[in-house]
Amino acid sequence: MKKLVVLSGAGISAESGIQTFRDSDGLWENYRVEDVCTPEALARNPELVIHFYNERLQQVLKAKPNPAHTALVELEKAYRVQIVTQNIDDLHERAGSSHVLHLHGEIRKKRSSVDENDIRDIVPIEKGIQMGDLDKYGKQYRPHIVFFGEAVPNIEPATRMVEEADILLVIGTSLNVYPAAGLLYYARPDAEVYYIDPKADSNGHLDKRIHCISEKAGAAVPELVKQLLEKA
Ligand code: NAD
Repeated sequence: MKKLVVLSGAGISAESGIQTFRDSDGLWENYRVEDVCTPEALARNPELVIHFYNERLQQVLKAKPNPAHTALVELEKAYRVQIVTQNIDDLHERAGSSHVLHLHGEIRKKRSSVDENDIRDIVPIEKGIQMGDLDKYGKQYRPHIVFFGEAVPNIEPATRMVEEADILLVIGTSLNVYPAAGLLYYARPDAEVYYIDPKADSNGHLDKRIHCISEKAGAAVPELVKQLLEKA
């Protein structure tokens, strides 16, 4: 079976009602990114950062996978599929994808700020992270999110996955957030690369061999999946 890697970004979840932040004039749900998505913001005002991510969690719990997420599951019938997502939501998992690697963390989890391996499910999930929920060092648990300016621990396994791909699908990402955006350039010269995003033609300076599909993921992904299954 051929290896197929999907690199997904916030755009794949837009039609599930989860706003992307670059499409909203630099504000993410009315917050400035510097106030809620950086290590400095967490140190300055942990309550605000935790409140922001608890709101995002509520939004994710209400959202449902859309036809783009569900179509990708079908690919597993004919390909060895690995999803590498920049998203913090769990819509790929809820759609039924078997192998999902999160580059920027997961909204359903909390993490110790001292021991980065102490990662736990938020329980009960509906309440989100509570102020006063302390790790074994007596420090407040933080969202399990990679903030802007922090290292991306999963970038190494993600790079290996992309290097091994026969087919690469890049879906709903502006290719602006590094290091995730750089992954594309690890594709083998003989790999087939498709890029689905309404702004695919204007985002980045892309190699001519990349097939750009300037459409929304909800319509374009099921169509591409159909074609890939026919030729598998
Ligand atoms: P981004 O830079 O990847 O930009 C979003 C892209 O989605 C844009 O290129 C836009 O053209 C495209 N898009 C919009 N609607 C689309 C659709 N219907 N189909 C396909 N593509 C569509 O992402 P961002 O919003 O700037 O977010 C940056 C980071 O913030 C992400 O990498 C992620 O870590 C986090 N984030 C996560 C979520 C989530 O988990 N769903 C949502 C917002 C932001």
